[in-house]
Amino acid sequence: MQFDVTILGSNAAIPAYNRHPSSQALNYNGNIFLIDCGEGTQFRMNEFGIKRGNLNNIFISHLHGDHYFGLVALLTSFNLNWREHPLHIYGPPALEEIINVHFKHSSTQLRYELHFHSVLADEPKIIYEDSTLTVETIILTHRLPTTGFLFKEKKHLRKIIAEKITEYNIPHHKITDIKRGEDFIDESGKKISNAELTLDPLPQRSYAYCSDTVYTESFIEQIKGVNTLYHEATFIHEHEERATETFHTTTKQAAKIAKLSNAGKLLIGHFSARYDDLNFLLNESKEVFPETFLAEEGKTFSI
Ligand SMILES: [Zn+2]
Ligand SMILES: [Zn+2]
Repeated sequence: MQFDVTILGSNAAIPAYNRHPSSQALNYNGNIFLIDCGEGTQFRMNEFGIKRGNLNNIFISHLHGDHYFGLVALLTSFNLNWREHPLHIYGPPALEEIINVHFKHSSTQLRYELHFHSVLADEPKIIYEDSTLTVETIILTHRLPTTGFLFKEKKHLRKIIAEKITEYNIPHHKITDIKRGEDFIDESGKKISNAELTLDPLPQRSYAYCSDTVYTESFIEQIKGVNTLYHEATFIHEHEERATETFHTTTKQAAKIAKLSNAGKLLIGHFSARYDDLNFLLNESKEVFPETFLAEEGKTFSI
């Protein structure tokens, strides 16, 4: 099952050095989930081959413009491209008003259904669920109410060993129960244990998106053992004071969060426009957490 994330925008606040404001496209088994939608997102989607037809859910972390100024443009393009299937947006309550005011004053009638889901930054909760995946909010500490998002695969079923189906003459309608962990009783009444019939399921994978936030350990328990963590690292560590003042994080602080949460790997991003060369940021973070990567635009990371 494909589970990866492509970086569409990696910069904080102001675009610089061909880096755009925040946006990421998460692909789970062909379904695209857009996380934040800064200015330029749809250009980057075209450039990196993100299929718009497979995008049905958009998650916005907070209302600083570098996280949503590309949204109305994208929604309008969907309309001009004759989109017909529904689209869901999850974000701060006032975002609905912002979208509506644009459409009101441009006399735009959408051809597709737009479902808005208000997300409050009060406590972590599941805001999206389908048969394979859940998305829950991560409460961040920023100048505005802000949530990160934790994408978690649901528990996979156990894998049935093909030869055992023939060996015990297991009927088709029993297979799902066995995959769920049940034993099998054969025609003679003999019990075959589930352990003999199945293999352990694939582990559940997860992706945490944390931007923007001041350094806080408040959500460590929630993301413990996450496979891939994206955490903002707006500043180099020398600028820690500036980071705290502006409710942002430094490279080493982001790495510490990755370490404390026992993440598989760390992607850092939301780079300040003051830095041209990002290798210094990467190396600083690696000193604390070696499995760090720069969330550079156009790169795809498997979860
Ligand atoms: Zn930002
Ligand atoms: Zn912000």
